[in-house]
Amino acid sequence: MKGVNYSSLGTYSGINGGGNVGGTGKMSLGKSIKMYLTIFILTTCIYMALYQYHISREPFAASEVVKHQEKSSSYIASYLWSPISLLMANSSSNSINNPTTTSTTTTTTTTIAPTTPTTTTLGSVGQKQGASSTASIRMVSLVATTPSFISPLSESRSELGSESLGGHQKTATMKTSTTTTTTRTTASGLATTKLSATTRTTTTAKTSAKLSAATTPIASHMENGHKTRPTFVAASLPPPLYIITPTYRRPEQLAELTRLGYTLKHVVNLLWLVIEDANKTNPLVGHTLDRIGVPYEYMVAPMPEKYKQTKKAKPRGVSNRNRGLEYLREHATEGVLYFADDDNTYDISIFEQMRYINKVAMWPVGLVTKTGVSSPIIQEGKLVGYYDGWIGGRKYPVDMAGFAVSVKFLKERPNAQMPFKPGYEEDGFLRSLAPLDDAEIELLADECRDILTWHTQTKKNAPGQALNRTRYKNTNLEHIDRLLVRP
Ligand code: UDP
Ligand code: MN
Repeated sequence: MKGVNYSSLGTYSGINGGGNVGGTGKMSLGKSIKMYLTIFILTTCIYMALYQYHISREPFAASEVVKHQEKSSSYIASYLWSPISLLMANSSSNSINNPTTTSTTTTTTTTIAPTTPTTTTLGSVGQKQGASSTASIRMVSLVATTPSFISPLSESRSELGSESLGGHQKTATMKTSTTTTTTRTTASGLATTKLSATTRTTTTAKTSAKLSAATTPIASHMENGHKTRPTFVAASLPPPLYIITPTYRRPEQLAELTRLGYTLKHVVNLLWLVIEDANKTNPLVGHTLDRIGVPYEYMVAPMPEKYKQTKKAKPRGVSNRNRGLEYLREHATEGVLYFADDDNTYDISIFEQMRYINKVAMWPVGLVTKTGVSSPIIQEGKLVGYYDGWIGGRKYPVDMAGFAVSVKFLKERPNAQMPFKPGYEEDGFLRSLAPLDDAEIELLADECRDILTWHTQTKKNAPGQALNRTRYKNTNLEHIDRLLVRP
C-alpha cells in the first residue's frame, strides 16, 4: 500500500519538476505538501535502512567483542528492535506472549559443603564472619539490554532450604548475556570462634554461552523446575568447585591472596581451601579472606622439617595440597578440585569449563619454562603428547595450573596424593590417579587451543625495613606495620 503511494507520488514529483506550473493553485499546494511529506518519509526510510546496513557491517559488531556468540538470524532486526527488547526485558508480564522475547530465570538456594568446625580452621577469624556480600557480574552485552534483577533475599542462615528470589530476563535478540548474582551469607558459630557453616544463596542465569556445559543444567532443569512466577524457572546450581590454594608467609602473601580471591569471587558455588605452610593460622590472612567474601576454609599444613632444611629444591606447597585432598575426602562428595597456586593468573572461564568434567581435564598454561607454554598436544582431536620445556621422564609433563580432577574420581582412589618430589609433583599426583586412560582426559580451553591460566610469578620483595616505633608512636603507621612482613 505504501509502496503504491510512494511510486505514484514519485511520478507526480517528476511531473511537477517537468514544469507543471499551470495547475490550479489549491490543488498544487495540497499536492506539494503531500509530495514533500512523502519525499521526507521516503528519504528517512532509505537513510534508516542504509544506517542499519552500515552498522551491521561494522567489524566491532559481533566478530571482535563477542566472538564466541552465535550470530542471530535476525541480526539487523536486533538493532531495529533493541529499544523494544529493552522494554520487554524490563516487563515480566509481557514477555511470555511476545514472540520476540524469551525469558529464562534460574533461582536457587544451595548450601555448599557445610564447613564443620575443625581445630585447624580459622582461629580468631571466625569472629569476623557474618558479613554478607553481593557480587554482580555483567558480561559484554552487544545490544542495549538491561537485565532486571530482583535481589535475592539475604536471610539465609546455616540451614538448607532458605528462600531466595532472583531474576534475570533476557530477550531473544541479545548477543551476549551471562549474568550472575551471588549473595553469600556466612554464619559463624556464636559460642565458638570457628566457622560453623557457610550458606550461599545464588541466583544465576546464563544464555547462549558457547559452553554447552554451562547451559545444560538450566536446560534440563527447565523440564522439571517449578515456576515461582510465570516467567521464572528454577534451576539447580552447577557442580561445586574446590579450589586448593597453597600459601605461605612472605611480603607478597596478602597481595597474592587478594588478587586471587577477587578472581574467585566471580565464580559461583566455589569453596576456596586456603592452606598455609605454617604451624598456626595467621589472623591477617583470615582477615583478608573475610574481607574478600569468597566462601573459604583456612587451614595450615607445614612443610615437613626435613624438606625445609634441604639446600636442594623444596617440594613447595605439597603438604598444603595434600591437606586439601584430605579435606575433600572427608567433606566433599561431588564436583571438581583444582590446585590454584596463590601467585598464578586465572581466566574465570576455565572454572566454568572444569566444573563438568568426569575424571581429569587438562589445558595449556602460559609462561611455563623456556617454551613459554606447557600444553597437551592435540592432533585430530586426540591427546598425542605434551609440549613442555622440561620433560624429565615425566608421564604427565604438565603444570600445576593445567589440570583439574573430579572429586568422585579422586575419592575412588584413596591413595592418590602428591609426592614430596620437586619437579614431579604434578606427574606424581596424576600417576597416583591410575587407572586413567589418555582418552579419558578431557581437553579444555577450546581443545587446548587457548590459554586460560598463566604461571605468573610475582617479583620477590625484600621485607621492608623496621618501623621507627618511637618516632611514629600513636600514628596509623603502627597499624599498617602489622600488615607487613618485617625483617
Ligand atoms: N608455597 C608454600 N611454601 C613454600 C613455598 C611455596 O606453601 O615454602 C606455595 C606458594 O604459595 C604457591 C605454591 O606453593 O602457592 C608454589 O610455590 P611457588 O609459587 O613459589 O612455586 P613456583 O610457582 O615458582 O614453582
Ligand atoms: Mn608460583
